[in-house]
Amino acid sequence: MPPTTQDKRKTAPRAGSRGRAVPELIFGDLWEYDPAPETADPKLKARYDLFIGGEFTAPKAGAYFDTINPATEQKLADVALAGQADVDAAYRAAQRAFDTTWGRMPGRERAKYLYRVARLLQDRAREFAVAETLNGGKPIKESRDFDVPMAAAHFFYHAGWADKLDYVAPGRKIAPLGVVGQVIPWNFPLLMLAWKLAPALAMGNCVVIKPAETTPITALKLAEIFQQAGLPPGVVNIVTGAGETGAAVMAHPTPVKVAFTGSTEVGKVIMRSLAGTDKKMTMELGGKAANIIFDDAPLDQAVEGVVNGIFFNQGHVCCAGSRLLVHEPVADRVLAKLKNRVRVLRVGDPMDKNTDLGAINSRQQLEKIGELVDSGVKEGAEIFQPPCRLPAKGFFFRPTLFSGVTQSHRIAREEIFGPVLSILTFRTVDEAVEKANNTAYGLSAGVWTDKGSRILKLSTELKAGVIWANTFNKFDPASPFGGYKESGFGREGGRQGLLDYAKLT
Ligand code: NAP
Ligand code: MG
Repeated sequence: MPPTTQDKRKTAPRAGSRGRAVPELIFGDLWEYDPAPETADPKLKARYDLFIGGEFTAPKAGAYFDTINPATEQKLADVALAGQADVDAAYRAAQRAFDTTWGRMPGRERAKYLYRVARLLQDRAREFAVAETLNGGKPIKESRDFDVPMAAAHFFYHAGWADKLDYVAPGRKIAPLGVVGQVIPWNFPLLMLAWKLAPALAMGNCVVIKPAETTPITALKLAEIFQQAGLPPGVVNIVTGAGETGAAVMAHPTPVKVAFTGSTEVGKVIMRSLAGTDKKMTMELGGKAANIIFDDAPLDQAVEGVVNGIFFNQGHVCCAGSRLLVHEPVADRVLAKLKNRVRVLRVGDPMDKNTDLGAINSRQQLEKIGELVDSGVKEGAEIFQPPCRLPAKGFFFRPTLFSGVTQSHRIAREEIFGPVLSILTFRTVDEAVEKANNTAYGLSAGVWTDKGSRILKLSTELKAGVIWANTFNKFDPASPFGGYKESGFGREGGRQGLLDYAKLT
């Protein structure tokens, strides 16, 4: 629901803050937008089967589960529940494809298929964006302007590598690994699929992949594109289901490598189950990124970046800037500006082009966010939520700011994976680095300052896989992405991402 308008300004001078006081915006009822729902047809089927050996195949046990729209709680389709026998069949198909076609095909031929997939995805971009938003709950402007174009970009980028693999590791002989197993989460269903599939396929591997239980639809729509593109049967096999199907994909004896993106908790379970095997692994796990604002930063730009960093996709982002570290001299001003910005965020129908925050992906995730927010209040942090109206049905959560947070609070330590920002302050550069690094995770960080030397210093001292300077949440297929510490290991994107799917001799 849209918040409302800014018709009056109240100026309250704030003590202890460098610069002019920030007027607090007061809202009346002036600028209400008319609804602007996206109308493209997502072309959904009533029932989705497994995609094995190039065909849509009914699950052997005949079981299906419902997939819903988290913004309305309405059912969208029946989706096949893959059991062990289906996972076995998927791996057999993948091994056959690797041995007979894909693994032997010259890279320049594989490239043609990847280009075709990328172009078909572009052709059907609007349809895919709507399907992604319906099934996942993210605002249409994000699926339309970020998820789908980035997914296509990953296929284009890796198509470009497929005939140049000799340059990935000059002087070494490079070959595909074989069959790989992959499991992905629900926050970027199509994009995570592209991150996993494009490098694996470009290198010549064949894949069995499991999408998240709550967001299987765009994966199965991409299977339609694989058929349209004439991808040889068995190169990509998609098995849908819940955690047990994921465990079967990871623990299967066939794959020589497994790649997982998801929570640190499940990543550890998988690593334990594979300990002692010689399988290669890539783990892209959780995060608790710090955005650091120094007193010389362009504050409005920084506030915009922080808001994007935590409220983008309802905070369902592994690299979300979920902690904000603010330099004390500007702490009050930054907080006041943040509150003003958060007051005008629009929460509601994800299909509306003006919506900033859509639906939380599932009831389970909504409850987890609520529980952690309650812990923040109980532990003594100061909460701010704008008074926006939330839809009566569906899973929604207000954008939430916590100030006065200390490092021992759960909201400063645990991954919330929701639209909740924990704000801490610091006085010196060293204190900022120490606080930013005081986490079990190490996926990303952001630095906002006018000083180039400070950016360089922090980029070496912060223990995070990606460090953004004076921006946040910027992605490019050429740029490797991945974590330190409990955020995992291995990289996706760029030359480094290809190396994780290659055998070098
Ligand atoms: P999750 O619960 O770990 O689930 C991830 C995937 O693993 C899902 O497909 C899930 O299936 C499956 N799974 C569950 N139990 C399994 C098991 N025992 N063995 C094998 N697979 C199993 O994570 P999530 O809640 O979907 O996603 C959020 C998490 O992903 C966050 O922690 C986030 O930080 C992380 N993430 C990391 C990155 C990165 O690049 N580092 C990117 C995106 C997200 P079901 O869906 O059926 O449960
Ligand atoms: Mg689950």
